[in-house]
Parts: sequence; structure tokens; C-alpha cells
Amino acid sequence: MLLHLVDRLMERQLDAEGAALLAEAITARGIAVRLGAASTGFVGTDKVEGVALQDGTVVPADLVVVAIGVRPNADLARAAGLAVNRGVLVDDGLTTDDDSIFAIGECAEHRGSVYGLVEPAHEQARVLAMRLAGKSAAYEGSLLATNLKVSGVGVFSAGAFEAAEGTETVVLRDRNAGLYRKFVLREGRLAGCVLVGDTQGALFYLGLIRSGQDISAIRADLPFGEHYCTARAA
Ligand SMILES: Cc1cc2nc3c(=O)[nH]c(=O)nc-3n(C[C@H](O)[C@H](O)[C@H](O)COP(=O)(O)OP(=O)(O)OC[C@H]3O[C@@H](n4cnc5c(N)ncnc54)[C@H](O)[C@@H]3O)c2cc1C
Repeated sequence: MLLHLVDRLMERQLDAEGAALLAEAITARGIAVRLGAASTGFVGTDKVEGVALQDGTVVPADLVVVAIGVRPNADLARAAGLAVNRGVLVDDGLTTDDDSIFAIGECAEHRGSVYGLVEPAHEQARVLAMRLAGKSAAYEGSLLATNLKVSGVGVFSAGAFEAAEGTETVVLRDRNAGLYRKFVLREGRLAGCVLVGDTQGALFYLGLIRSGQDISAIRADLPFGEHYCTARAA
């Protein structure tokens, strides 16, 4: 059984509909999904026999895998008197509140985000290297993309994929086929997307988000992938 604290799977990477589809696909593979499950402890004497939940239930188990994220170890920075929240606070120059000390990577907190991935660290390193070499450069945050298979189900998301004021949404859904493709547009540009079930074209969409190019001419073809879009634009 998969126990998840909040009311949808992968809440940081998927919108509600994509998460519901993923939960259905996982359930269809024989893995029960229990959402809103706050665990309070393990039950068992010599070995684990179950996971106790806040509502009083005990889910029987003989093996428990815990995946609850990471937290930066910022003790050294804290002890040195640097400003630390979840991570070591840095500005767009990757400078801490002591302007002779910089922080990048998983220990750094920039504009409220602590990234737990390699790519943002590389981007930060690039900016800091430029600055240390006397060139002007600023880090404005990283565009995060998720591209993976969850229990064999393709899942991709990138950018601002939740509908918000000033956005339009293009969706292709085929619930029975376990397919969901959602595109959020802002001012004629692709702001974010979610793909569940079939992630073909993910890098094409990521490129559109990154470039910020006008996609008005291909918006109706977006769900059908790169070849459709490029053929139409040609
Ligand atoms: C199991 C696992 C799988 C992952 N998979 C992916 C993935 O698929 N894709 C992805 O993008 N990211 C992945 N990550 C995350 C990625 O590894 C980290 O985001 C990345 O390594 C962060 O780089 P970093 O240089 O900031 O920190 P780290 O790689 O953690 O390096 C910090 C270094 O500082 C050293 N250190 C700590 N304290 C001190 C001290 N007081 N003095 C001296 N040295 C010290 C540590 O020993 C360590 O070598 C994964 C992480 C884990 C744990």
C-alpha cells in the first residue's frame, strides 16, 4: 500500500486531475493508494508489523519504505551566524548575508526555494563562477521539470501548470486510456504543462516553456506533439 500525507499524489509535480489519473493507474497495477494518511509511528516489537495512522488505523506491513524528502544540513552556516531559514539564505548573486560568503546547491535557499536537484545547482554554479570572475550575472531561479516513470506510468511536468488568473488551458484527456495532457498558456506563451500516461514531446514542450516563444499559431495542435506542431507551423 502507498500511504501519502496530502490529498493527492505528487502534489508538487502534478495538478489534481493528473494526480488522480496516476493514482488510478497505480491502483490498477495492484498497489492500493491511501491519501490523507498521516503516519504517527511504526508498530511491532522485534520487527515492523504495521504503520500507525493519526486516525487510529494500523496498516499491516512487513516492510516499510520511507520517502519524505530532504532537509539541508545548514548547521555550519547557522553556527557561523549566517541567515538561515530552511536553507542558507542567498540573493540573486548567490551571496549570503555576509557578502564574502556564497552558497549554492542543495544547502542554499533562493527566493523561498530549496532545490533538491542537480540542474539548479549547476545553474547556480555557472552564475557564481561568472561573478567570481568579475562578470555580471544573476540567478533568477530555476525552471523545474519532472520527467519520470511512476510504477511504469510516464509522468512529466514543467513550469507553472496550475491554471491561474490570466491563463488559458488546453487539455487532451482520454481517461480510459489513462492519458492526460494539459497545457497552460499565458499571453500566447506556454507557461507550463503536465503529461500523464504518455510523455512524448516532453523536451519539445520544455523548450517552448524555456524559450517563452509565441505559440499562438500552434495552440490547437499542442497536445499532439512536436511533429504536428512543426508541420502546422511550416
Ligand atoms: C538517493 C538520491 C538520488 C538522487 N537522484 C537525483 C536525480 O536523479 N536527479 C537529480 O537532479 N538529483 C538527484 N538527487 C539530488 C542530488 O544528489 C543533489 O541535489 C545534489 O547532489 C546536491 O549537490 P550539492 O553539491 O549541493 O550537495 P552534495 O552533493 O550533498 O554535496 C555536499 C558536500 O559537502 C560535504 N559537506 C557537508 N558538510 C560539510 C562540512 N561541514 N565540511 C566539509 N564538507 C561538508 C558533503 O560531504 C558533500 O560531499 C538525488 C539525491 C539522492 C540522495
